[in-house]
Amino acid sequence: MNLLLIDPSELSAPDRVWLTDRRAVHIREIHQAQVGDRLRAGMLNGLIGEAEVLNLDASGVELALDFSQPRQSPSPLPVILVLALPRPKMLRRVLQAVASLGVKEIWLIHSYRVDKSYWSSPLLDAAVIHEQLLLGLEQAGDTQLPVVHQRKRFKPFVEDELPGLAAGRQAWVAHPYHAQPCPAPSDESALVAIGPEGGFIPYEVDKLNQAGLKSLSLGSRILRVETAVPVLLTRLFPVS
Ligand code: SAH
Repeated sequence: MNLLLIDPSELSAPDRVWLTDRRAVHIREIHQAQVGDRLRAGMLNGLIGEAEVLNLDASGVELALDFSQPRQSPSPLPVILVLALPRPKMLRRVLQAVASLGVKEIWLIHSYRVDKSYWSSPLLDAAVIHEQLLLGLEQAGDTQLPVVHQRKRFKPFVEDELPGLAAGRQAWVAHPYHAQPCPAPSDESALVAIGPEGGFIPYEVDKLNQAGLKSLSLGSRILRVETAVPVLLTRLFPVS
C-alpha cells in the first residue's frame, strides 16, 4: 500500500478519520507506524496529501489529514479496455493490475469461450470490484477510481455500443493471428479488446473487426490474459 486511500464518507471531521479495516492493520503491521508518523494519503477521486498518526491500538488507527501541499494523481492512460470476462481468480488480479497501470474505463464482456458460470461469481458484485480497484490504486499511488461496465451479451455490445466507443481513436483487438504488429507507443487515445483464456472465436474476431477494431499481434508467444494486458498497455503507451 503506497497510498492510503480514504473515501470522503469515512471522515469524522473535515481532517479526521478513524480506520478499523485492513488499512489499519497494514499501517500497524507493515508500516509499523508510530504516533506522529506521517503517511501518504489521498481522497478517493481527489487530491493526494499526508496523514499523521494521532492514535493507534488494536481496535484501529486515528489519522489527521493534511492537504496543505496537495499533489495530483499520476496521469491516467487514455485507453478504454474491453476484456472478455476472465475466470474469477484471474479477474481479481487483472482488475488490480489495470487499476495500477492507470486504466480508467473497463468493459467486461461475454464471449463464446467465457464460461457462463463466471457471470454469477460474487467477485462481480460492485463492492468486490471496488475493493480490487482500490488495491490497485493504493499500489500505484493514484486516487482516481476506474469505471467498470459489464455486458453479458457479446453481439448487442459489439454491434450497438462498441462502434461508438471505438470512434475517433485507435481501436485494436489483441489477436495473434492475421494481425498487424503492435504500433510504436503514443499518447493517442485507444481502445483495446483482449480475449478470454481460449481466445476469441473467428466469428467474434470478424464482428470486432467490423466494429472498427484492427487485429494486433504481440508476437508469436501466446500470453496469458494477466500477462497480455500489461504487455499490451506498456507497448501502446509511453511510460509516464
Ligand atoms: N488459446 C488462445 C490464446 C488466448 S490468450 C489462442 O490460441 O488464440 C488470451 C488473450 O490474450 C487472447 O485472446 C489475446 O487477446 C491476448 N493475447 C495473448 N497472446 C497474444 C499475442 N501474442 N498477441 C496478441 N494477443 C495476445
